[in-house]
Amino acid sequence: MRTKFAFIKNALKWLTLFLVLVIAPLSLALIGHEEESRGFWVEFGVGLGFVGLAMMGLQFVLTARYSKIGAPFGLDELLQFHGQAGYIAWLFIMGHFIILLVADSEFLKFLNPAVNLPRAIALSTVIIAITALIATTHWREKFGIIYEWWRATHGILAFLVMFIGTVHIMQVSFYVSELWQQVVWVSLSIGAISMLLHNRVWRPMQMKKNPWQISSVHQETEDIWSIWLEPVGHDGIKFKAGQFIWITLGDSPFSLQQHPFTISSAPGQKKIRLTIKELGDFTSQLDSLESGATAFIEGPYGNFTLDSSSSTHNVFIIGGIGITPTMSVLNDLKSNGDQRETTLIYGTPSKELTPFYEELKKLSNEVNLNLIHVFEEAPDDWDGETGFITEEIMKRNLPDDYSNCEFFICGPPPMMDVAEPTLREWGIPVHRVHSERFNIV
Ligand SMILES: Cc1cc2nc3c(=O)[nH]c(=O)nc-3n(C[C@H](O)[C@H](O)[C@H](O)COP(=O)(O)OP(=O)(O)OC[C@H]3O[C@@H](n4cnc5c(N)ncnc54)[C@H](O)[C@@H]3O)c2cc1C
Repeated sequence: MRTKFAFIKNALKWLTLFLVLVIAPLSLALIGHEEESRGFWVEFGVGLGFVGLAMMGLQFVLTARYSKIGAPFGLDELLQFHGQAGYIAWLFIMGHFIILLVADSEFLKFLNPAVNLPRAIALSTVIIAITALIATTHWREKFGIIYEWWRATHGILAFLVMFIGTVHIMQVSFYVSELWQQVVWVSLSIGAISMLLHNRVWRPMQMKKNPWQISSVHQETEDIWSIWLEPVGHDGIKFKAGQFIWITLGDSPFSLQQHPFTISSAPGQKKIRLTIKELGDFTSQLDSLESGATAFIEGPYGNFTLDSSSSTHNVFIIGGIGITPTMSVLNDLKSNGDQRETTLIYGTPSKELTPFYEELKKLSNEVNLNLIHVFEEAPDDWDGETGFITEEIMKRNLPDDYSNCEFFICGPPPMMDVAEPTLREWGIPVHRVHSERFNIV
């Protein structure tokens, strides 16, 4: 259960910690430092470098998939914050280079191969790597970079920036001349980088010990498939309705192809169901998946769960494949005999392209569910809602006093971009609106 106060307190706690850790290197540098100042702009430029590298280090923590770090906000917000912090880190690190070069041309020697070739190569690599990190993320789709390759290079580039940045600080040693300061810097950098290794090496090793296999594949609509997975030689995972996992198909959990999908079945069973819409290279191979195929699962993650709801009336505003967490929640309510009031406004292209049409119909008799389908293209005999989900449709189907409802939104970006601002305009406090975006990057 999440109150407004707890939400703000949590957010402030994490933000303060982030800022303290970002600024900490400056205090670290100043302890025991007795050298004369080299002028405001040089010191300012150096300061930007320290803060920029600290921010880079924290990026490894933000993306390490530690549930405690993600829990207060959700993956969406965390990754959005990671992206924004990444832009700022880029600005700081580029600012460091540019300000120092402009403030004192002596610093040009750092990039001069004739003075020190390895150093010039390393520092040029940092500038290129951090710019490539930003550019390939911002324009990934425009450049046509395949997600998996982007993710792999993202890790390598971030590692390069962190590693060379730390070596650079040690080599310059102006503010890190004491052994203890060097030990602290190196330990922090190793700590940050080891989170990447933990995520990409240690976790797959653990997953290898607990394999899963596909037990059945079922077609829901023209381009949506449900796959049931069962644990092999272990008890499966404990999760909350609405959470997601990362899945790798095939014999090795080290594959670059690791994708997030929400569990669409209820907790409490050994088997889990994933329901997947065909979109790109990975999701389009589902029709050829065979029972018995091996899979590896990491998770669960996410807080798109009723745990975070303090209301007795939960409203789900959902589009297309965004229904998966809601299916898990509704099935969980059914298993627990929970008759909490629930409204589901569900937008899909047509009745035929609505996954779980029959299952939802059944659920609406089994739990306290007010089910509103919104078909873009409605059948001739349809007298329900049509078109896209709009403010009018939302208003028409909610109780007069919706201010006490808790809202859960999940669907394609255009739908989310209507629902989220509408709820903001209605004055629904941010802690009572839970969003999950399936397109995180
Ligand atoms: C928290 C979460 C829960 C999700 N739950 C579901 C679900 O229940 N059902 C469902 O059909 N889809 C779900 N998705 C979306 C699903 O992960 C993508 O559709 C799938 O990974 C696309 O892979 P692709 O290679 O087929 O498509 P591509 O064409 O390669 O990718 C299409 C888009 O999907 C995203 N994507 C691709 N690969 C990955 C990856 N490895 N990790 C993260 N994002 C990726 C990128 O934004 C990319 O632009 C979820 C996504 C997230 C973040």
